[in-house]
Amino acid sequence: MHSWQSKGSGGDVPSGRVEISDVRVAFGDTDVLHGVNFDVAPGEIVALLGPSGCGKTTLLRSIAGLERIVGGTISLNGKEVATNRQHVRPEARLVGMVFQDWALFPHMTVEENVAYGLSRSANKDEQVAEVLTLVGLDGLGHRMPSTLSGGQQQRVALARALAPKPSVLLLDEPFSNLDTGLRVQVRAEVHALLSGLGVTAVFVTHDQEEAFILGDRVAVMRDGSIEQFGTPSEIYEHPSSAWVAEFVGDANFLRGDATGMSAMTPIGEVSLSESHVGEVDVLLRPEHMTVVETESGNGVVSNVEYYGHDHMVQVDLDAGGRLAVRISGNPGVHRGQRVSLTSDGTSCLAFSAG
Ligand code: ATP
Repeated sequence: MHSWQSKGSGGDVPSGRVEISDVRVAFGDTDVLHGVNFDVAPGEIVALLGPSGCGKTTLLRSIAGLERIVGGTISLNGKEVATNRQHVRPEARLVGMVFQDWALFPHMTVEENVAYGLSRSANKDEQVAEVLTLVGLDGLGHRMPSTLSGGQQQRVALARALAPKPSVLLLDEPFSNLDTGLRVQVRAEVHALLSGLGVTAVFVTHDQEEAFILGDRVAVMRDGSIEQFGTPSEIYEHPSSAWVAEFVGDANFLRGDATGMSAMTPIGEVSLSESHVGEVDVLLRPEHMTVVETESGNGVVSNVEYYGHDHMVQVDLDAGGRLAVRISGNPGVHRGQRVSLTSDGTSCLAFSAG
């Protein structure tokens, strides 16, 4: 593992801690962030995940010091950097930022781009060379950005942000400019690099898969608030609301009549993970159901989608509604067939029917 000691570390102040407490941001009369709370531990990677316009970029820019907050507190490494009265300049916050479009200077070489944020110092060339090696761009320092591939340009942007040894790295949709195949590869490289360096990072994405793969923890945002903050498995397995459940994966909801730890639904009895009484919406993930061909079934297959590693079988229930069932291997059913769809016995989450 490389040692990437932040310039901001020293004394007994831990490097790379972010604390966001009740942060509010407004543009004119419009509140965009309504009291956001979360924290990032040193060396942790946190994803801000949410639909377009929910305030992810505004929150990231507020941490960087590019937006002013109207309420709450932002602390970096134990020091307050933003309140409604105080605003520490971005340059003084020891954060690195990678923008969505990478924002490379087209008229500067790779080395000049990377050196841009470094103060004049005797070993500046050494620092640039070190960080270029780190991101795997050895030998490309004299090239102009336009002569590099998308993945290489992305790494230049990363090198430029890492060169001043920031205590926190902020990345705004860093992979969205890349084609699908390249995105997966660059994402894995960046993940390995950041984890290896132990860099604290906060990144914005609207892609659930990306948030879950890269994030040690994920903040799921909606309409300027955080709906849930937790590890990917906590969020997937224990979503705090039906909205989060649908946003972070394929979700089927079935209306059921709960009597304690089970509920009667149109596909029969389903066990619940918590006790409920009365009308509920039961969350059934596609991987928690089974489907078998039978004349006396409870639905008809409307489609079978092939994904290579598994199949998604869509079933139109006799009782109304369409459910998606994930089957690994051969699904054993085809479109138009009558089938019986049942829970596989997994205890399911339920939400009181609104
Ligand atoms: P996307 O995924 O589309 O980038 P986002 O979740 O990052 O969205 P933000 O860019 O933070 O969302 O925007 C949040 C809200 O604030 C939006 O309604 C947006 O229109 C508004 N907004 C953002 N910047 C400004 C600005 N400078 N002035 C006025 N309104 C703004």
